[in-house]
Amino acid sequence: SIPLGYFGGIGGASRNGILVKGANYLEALTEVHTVVFDKTGTITEGHFQVRAVMPQDGYRQDEIIRYAAMVEAGSSHPIAKSILTAYARPVDAGAIEHFEEIPGCGIRAVVEGKTILVGNDRLLHRENIVLADSLGTSSGTVVYLAIDGRFAGAISIADQIKADVTAGIRELKRLGVQQTIMLTGDDQAVAEQVAQAVGIDRFYAELLPADKVARLEELEQQVPGRPKQKLVFVGDGINDAPVLARADVGIAMGGLGSDAAIEAADVVIMEDQPSKIATAIQLAHRTKQIIM
Ligand code: ADP
Ligand code: MG
Repeated sequence: SIPLGYFGGIGGASRNGILVKGANYLEALTEVHTVVFDKTGTITEGHFQVRAVMPQDGYRQDEIIRYAAMVEAGSSHPIAKSILTAYARPVDAGAIEHFEEIPGCGIRAVVEGKTILVGNDRLLHRENIVLADSLGTSSGTVVYLAIDGRFAGAISIADQIKADVTAGIRELKRLGVQQTIMLTGDDQAVAEQVAQAVGIDRFYAELLPADKVARLEELEQQVPGRPKQKLVFVGDGINDAPVLARADVGIAMGGLGSDAAIEAADVVIMEDQPSKIATAIQLAHRTKQIIM
């Protein structure tokens, strides 16, 4: 049974823009061992910007960005938005003859009679397309484009780390959280850079949405003292609602962003502020002190 005082705690949390769906979750937040974060949209803004277009194989920059935009017009992924913004022209949706979005990989579509792939290296490798290794090093995420089975170019895009993540993670440590972990579908290099920049202990990259659920289950099993000690997952609900639902405590951030996230989460942080995770834990501790 849960002491009545927790209901007061829920009220206090909601006045701080933190929606707690039950007193049991507030109690759980006093015993957090591990906090697992999704990367895109959670640690980073999820607002990508195109930085460079690198055509290959005789293509021009404007052709690469145009084909990419035509394909991405069918997607609501943050990467799609950045490419459409860079193209800055209306896209004729009627030109797409076939469209298939492959979660965690990208898109395969037929446009103007050409088969276009837009996505990560995994997507191109699936179809045995060889990438040029003359692309140089990019600090951001790279989106690759293939036309009719040949590598045609790459688009370098960059996201920004949210302003208060680093302080928020430091605060979690101060509140007794033992480890912080990041999961992402993005590549190793980008993941390493972001994890290091914000002080995340460990990361797992190149995960498909289903891999994230499997990884979370593994990590949960590794929490010493579970079920008393808890694992928290923090996501934005884009591609990660199943992970939110699976965690001991699923926290969705940027509350009004996605209905799926609000459904699946146990705690919803209304504003897009990672430091509020620590605030939620602090409020939970304070509530428990009042009760005891
Ligand atoms: P994260 O795990 O960082 O939240 P996602 O699971 O949404 O990212 O996507 C993982 C990767 O799949 C992206 O980094 C990108 O390489 C590729 N990808 C997914 N959707 C698209 C798309 N619409 N266009 C291009 N690439 C995509
Ligand atoms: Mg995501």
